[in-house]
Amino acid sequence: MTYTLNAAHLYGDLMNTYGDIGNILAMGYYAKAVDATINTELISLDNPFDPAKYDFVLFGGGQDYEQTIVSKDLQTKKAPLTDYIEAGGPFLAICGGFQMLGHYYIGAQGEKIPGIGALDHYTLSQDNNRFIGNITIKNAETGQTYYGFENHNGTTFLGKGERPLGDVIQGHGNNGKDQTEGVIYKNTFGSYFHGPILARNEALAKRILKLALQRKYPDGDFSTLDQLHEDLTKNVVVKP
Ligand code: GLN
Repeated sequence: MTYTLNAAHLYGDLMNTYGDIGNILAMGYYAKAVDATINTELISLDNPFDPAKYDFVLFGGGQDYEQTIVSKDLQTKKAPLTDYIEAGGPFLAICGGFQMLGHYYIGAQGEKIPGIGALDHYTLSQDNNRFIGNITIKNAETGQTYYGFENHNGTTFLGKGERPLGDVIQGHGNNGKDQTEGVIYKNTFGSYFHGPILARNEALAKRILKLALQRKYPDGDFSTLDQLHEDLTKNVVVKP
């Protein structure tokens, strides 16, 4: 393989709801077609996070109990994670992971679970309710439609410098009120979509993969990524 990306799977042993690691597998599937490979490292409790080492970070969803455990450890990684995000490192945060990149999440029992405030959103709790079901959104910049499945108690409100990943067409999204779903801030993407989101949304998988490849290999030509399509009858990626 000509190109190698190093991915950090943050707290993958504690927060990996609905197999969120499938997002890295989906990226790896397209990476192979442009002669790239993705090495994944689990970064969990007590493991340092070195922002210079990684080309992609995945932070999956989780249950409130695991989030309280992760929240404490996460404070020790606040500075390097914020540096990585501010430097434009590609990052995908799903559900609980998305919540924890913001200021805080009020859990279902009313407990305040601190995030790291690397992004400006905050998350409140619903009274005896969860948003569960299929969801469809449209990304304003590309016009692309994304499909997923949401299951969350938290209601998230975006803040400064944050734009939504998409506008809700069907489902609830960030808070069930303002029609926003997820977030984009620099090269950080957040979403409530499980599924996993990149396995179900090829265009987004390629977009984030291309960001990571171009950032590490500025002289590389990854234009073929846009022309790849899947031949589902043979279950292969067809190169142009
Ligand atoms: N525990 C959080 C909530 O209920 C996150 C859920 C998730 O990651 N699926 O909102």
